Amino acid sequence: MKKRKILPPKKIGPNAAWLLLLFLVAGMAYLFWYNSVNRQVERIKYSQLLTFAQNNKIESVVIQEQHVKGKLKNGKQFETYVIPSEKLWSILRSNDVLMDVYPPEKQSWGSYLFISLLPLLLIFLWIAYMRKNQNGIGGAGKIFSFGKSKAKFFSPNTINVTFKNVAGVHEAKEDLKDIIEFLKNPIKFTRLGAKIPKGILLRGAPGNGKTLLAKAVAGEANCPFFSISGSDFVEVFVGVGASRVRSLFTQAKKNSPCIVFIDEIDAVGRQRGIGLGGGNDEREQTLNQLLSEMDGFSTEHGSVIILAATNRPDVLDKALLRPGRFDRIIEVPYPDLISREKILEVHSKGVKLGNEVDLNKIARGTQGFSGADLENLINEAALVASKKNKQNVTLEDFEQARDKLLLGSERKTLILTKKEKELTAYHESGHTLLNILLPNTDPLHKVTIIPRGKSLGASWSLPETEKHTQTKSEMISQIKILFGGLVAENIIFNEQTSGAANDIEKATKIARLMVTRFGMSKLGPIVFDETKEHPYLGRDIQKTRMHSDKTAEKVDHEVENIIHSSLKEVTKILSENKDKLEILAKSLLEKETLQANEVYNLLGIEPRKSNNW
Ligand code: ADP
Ligand code: ZN
Repeated sequence: MKKRKILPPKKIGPNAAWLLLLFLVAGMAYLFWYNSVNRQVERIKYSQLLTFAQNNKIESVVIQEQHVKGKLKNGKQFETYVIPSEKLWSILRSNDVLMDVYPPEKQSWGSYLFISLLPLLLIFLWIAYMRKNQNGIGGAGKIFSFGKSKAKFFSPNTINVTFKNVAGVHEAKEDLKDIIEFLKNPIKFTRLGAKIPKGILLRGAPGNGKTLLAKAVAGEANCPFFSISGSDFVEVFVGVGASRVRSLFTQAKKNSPCIVFIDEIDAVGRQRGIGLGGGNDEREQTLNQLLSEMDGFSTEHGSVIILAATNRPDVLDKALLRPGRFDRIIEVPYPDLISREKILEVHSKGVKLGNEVDLNKIARGTQGFSGADLENLINEAALVASKKNKQNVTLEDFEQARDKLLLGSERKTLILTKKEKELTAYHESGHTLLNILLPNTDPLHKVTIIPRGKSLGASWSLPETEKHTQTKSEMISQIKILFGGLVAENIIFNEQTSGAANDIEKATKIARLMVTRFGMSKLGPIVFDETKEHPYLGRDIQKTRMHSDKTAEKVDHEVENIIHSSLKEVTKILSENKDKLEILAKSLLEKETLQANEVYNLLGIEPRKSNNW
């Protein structure tokens, strides 16, 4: 793939953006209003007034005690303050100025009050807005209830999900069945002294249905459901988080049996005491409160089950995972092939699909998609079809939708120079040719030089079956395909461009992993580097190396070996097949997109296997 370098836009959350807007509009309205009072009126000096009057430039004045407002003959307005004197009157009079006098103004204290209170009013509105937005149990009415829990509450009759709505994740569902049984009939379990877990950790990447599962448990058990995000507990004010936890548990106990779902528990649950600057008091207090609440109720009386979601159980404070707290972890993984098909089925229920649409095929072409991604894919495909006024959603629409999700929308307005287009065509042809010629590669899917998102073009392959591991030869082939782009540019134009930066980065990463993790070099099966996450920032900011400088040199050397021998072979293959490279690139320049079978036809090569979905 050939990439353009574009700085990612800074993201502002929708809430923050709204607030900003609110403030801007309010601020502007205020300024506008305030200014409109004094608009276009120039403040002049008393002496200037006299000069204007003497030179016969003034048309009219309005005098109110010491304040004079007037209009010049050229239309300009002015104001000034005067010493009311007979002399002024006579000057104005003798120059035929239209004069009017107003009685002293009774200061409209209402408007004064308004001006001085407006900022306060704005702050008040802001707080009200924040309160309303959080949808908390406290409700919008209780504006200053900082310590109230922010949890969303769902009564049983408003929960419309059950396990039927959750496709795949069989193991997770199986594991959660006990909980449902217990919630339905707590006494049956506790009668014999059986212990039911209080807390269960759902672990998995975002969008794979953790929230959905938790809610479905409540739906199955027909019990109330509280939902809150770990980050909702964390506030600037010390003590607020802890009080929110307390309030949440009070509510939950009142509504038991029920489910409390805490999303992103790592926001509160990170390991204590190792943060920057000696830790975060507020977060620790909140976590301590959570721990003591969990210890404080027993399932016999409470029947409150806490489900929490995280993608990073490894960063959680160990105390959270102790028996009696979150002592069970249930995996909610990325859906496999069968689950993807099921998820597609669930979400395409209300969508009119064309006869030829085979959800299994689509599932095969969407490895690595989360449940939410799949839902999004269907919606996107339906949008594509609607735009074309089609009767139903076809495979082609799905293809377009997937391309858009994976690579961004087509950028029809991006104008490339002829040279850029040529470079891209050869670059992508290089990738494509290697994909076809090398062994152990995924079947080619298609190649395009239509710019999308950040990339100028792309050459795609799709795995035929679900893969869980990769062989060494597959990885080597992958590195070579990645180098196909820049080597092709080099061979044809004797020049290199910055467009290959992304390819180089990926290739280097694979080579490094091969040496340091997978034992695929002559250094043998040893792990060579270890990344430790910084406990507070949660990012890989410190790398601890567990080996000597000398070993590090050897590692670097092995990585270089893999890269350079791959590069050499790619250069050899593409030089020998320069004719094919030309054919492909020329055809791409003409047609912009080639499907796998078209590529094979052009080159007169028997298709190995092609994967159009
Ligand atoms: P998480 O909490 O893991 O981030 P969510 O439960 O919020 O994920 O999932 C987001 C959406 O994706 C769900 O509302 C649902 O529409 C869809 N989804 C995810 N996983 C599944 C699944 N296994 N079956 C059906 N829909 C799913
Ligand atoms: Zn590339």
